[in-house]
Amino acid sequence: AKQKGRNNYQFFTSGMHDAIANRLTLEKYLRKAVEFNEMELFYQPKVCLETGRIMGMEALLRWNHPKLKPISPTEFIPIAEETGMILSLGEWALVQACRQTKSWQETGLPFLRVAVNLSPNQFHQPDLPEQIRSILKDTGLDPQWLELEITENILMDKTANTLNTLQQLKSLGVCISLDDFGTGYSSFSYLKGFPIDCLKIDRTFIQDIPRSSKDANIASAMIRLARNLNMIVVAEGVETQEQLVFLQNHHCHVAQGYIFSEPLSVTAFENLIEKGRYR
Ligand code: C2E
Ligand code: CA
Ligand code: CA
Ligand code: CA
Repeated sequence: AKQKGRNNYQFFTSGMHDAIANRLTLEKYLRKAVEFNEMELFYQPKVCLETGRIMGMEALLRWNHPKLKPISPTEFIPIAEETGMILSLGEWALVQACRQTKSWQETGLPFLRVAVNLSPNQFHQPDLPEQIRSILKDTGLDPQWLELEITENILMDKTANTLNTLQQLKSLGVCISLDDFGTGYSSFSYLKGFPIDCLKIDRTFIQDIPRSSKDANIASAMIRLARNLNMIVVAEGVETQEQLVFLQNHHCHVAQGYIFSEPLSVTAFENLIEKGRYR
């Protein structure tokens, strides 16, 4: 540390100081975000490539702070995870997504499956299956319409009772998806050993197809692998017509991405469904 003044040591450059101050501010605001009604779920459609119909949607958190500029979940989710706030935030998202989906079903919209992201921290809470059981009961949503997206890194943790948790969740009747497939510590033993219904190919393998023959080969191999294991295969981050054609030609079941729609607010999503787009 560089000496500055009498007893003041300047430990941080001002840039670092700003970053730390910013982080502490975010943390402080995040603590109040649910209570102050600043959190919102957006919904991004998942489209069946065989029929062209929307078959479900992924719920994605949005944080509308009255003063700060919009903060991406890639920024605030890690803070929520490190501080443990993800437990209350994650529970809020589960309740909200189930309640909204049930309400859409009651207003006569087509029945769609809602996918909610689970952080590792949430997944390792021993009472997670019970929490989800009680949320389903309270909201009245039939378990078959709830899908939980987990990442490979959760499965890597062999000490935790991962298989047991997954079996408990499965026995509730919900679906399990493996998110961002191929980016974490992927292992075929996960696909063999765990009850996974759906495999989501990460956007990084999709973005350069069909131009990159390496990515095209990896994507088509992942599709075949999933299909051979009787899993539903979903391509994430589909943005172009060329990518879509490639995925259709290789019999990918489902696609999600800006080519169909960005994640939408509740009202915007309702408009999309009511207009019968992609149906
Ligand atoms: P994710 O689960 O992989 O979600 C997909 C991300 O890709 C979303 O970013 C979505 O907006 C974005 N995306 C969708 N289609 C396209 C596309 O065609 N092109 C591109 N470039 N991007 C696309 P978002 O909403 O910013 O969320 C980022 C991450 O934050 C999520 O990645 C997820 O890991 C985390 N997250 C969001 N909501 C939740 C939540 O409720 N709980 C937890 N634990 N994590 C969440
Ligand atoms: Ca996800
Ligand atoms: Ca993903
Ligand atoms: Ca991701």
